[in-house]
Amino acid sequence: MTATRCGVVAFIGRPNVGKSTLMNHLIGQKISITSRRPQTTRHRIHGILTRDNYQIVIADTPGIQEEEQRALNKVMNQTAYQALAGVDVICFTVDALKWNQGDEYVLSLLEGLQVPVFLVLNKIDTLDEKNQLLPHIARLQEKREFAEVVPVSALGGHNLDALEATLQGYLPEGPFLYDEDDITDRNLRFLAAEMIREKIFRQLGDELPHQMTVEVELWEDGPRVTHIAASILVERPGQKKILIGTNGERIKKIGIDARKEIEQLIGRKVMLRLWVRVRRGWSDDERALRSLGYVDN
Ligand code: GDP
Ligand code: MG
Repeated sequence: MTATRCGVVAFIGRPNVGKSTLMNHLIGQKISITSRRPQTTRHRIHGILTRDNYQIVIADTPGIQEEEQRALNKVMNQTAYQALAGVDVICFTVDALKWNQGDEYVLSLLEGLQVPVFLVLNKIDTLDEKNQLLPHIARLQEKREFAEVVPVSALGGHNLDALEATLQGYLPEGPFLYDEDDITDRNLRFLAAEMIREKIFRQLGDELPHQMTVEVELWEDGPRVTHIAASILVERPGQKKILIGTNGERIKKIGIDARKEIEQLIGRKVMLRLWVRVRRGWSDDERALRSLGYVDN
């Protein structure tokens, strides 16, 4: 029997560069929610890609943010940073040619780490001038030495096989960390809550209350239908009104979209009930965050 190899790869980068999309497309299934807005990913989540003789465990992390004023941001940064301890490869992910302060900050956090760091340039489908890519890469290579440089398009599926092939060369020999059928370390309740959160992100655009979270309160697998009830927690009554929308149109649409996706995820019919509740100031209270599972321990 040939020896198996298994390792953890962390995707690190400022918000919105496409880390979650990359993970989903590498795994071939949606595990991590994505959107145009920063802060879509709030938790550390593992995606698992298993082939015949290797397993890549992908750690998707919340985008690292420079401002740490609010407790929620602070916890998110800690989660991203903890993800770096004990990984085998770091994929420092950037948005094609769009380099900014945020990228510079993340790069500074990687200084001194002994782990191989890949430079992953995502969204290359957005480039009109492909010949700008090489000079840009050369400039970034002056900032630090990268073990590998891989341009990809997560959405277009471009070069993802090359990324996987390169990654697998860096995996240490060892047994699989997860069952070969697992695609994530998170349970269905968690994934369902995340899917609801994504639909809220997509429905609300710029009206989105920044500090909003979803808790699944009931999950009952009936003989034919799975009953799920979830609360959406916001900070102010005004935000509750926005989420509900005129005559409840908005929350209804969110519920329908989320239900369809959860049905796909679990392969059963779902009855989904959503409630919007006001919980004042929760995002500033680390204890409340802990109780909602935002801190791993
Ligand atoms: P994250 O914050 O780094 O996890 O970023 P997301 O995965 O949530 O993606 C942020 C936005 O970029 C979403 O609107 C994605 O659809 C978009 N995106 C991700 N990858 C690509 C890509 O390869 N090409 C293009 N054009 N857009 C992408
Ligand atoms: Mg993300």
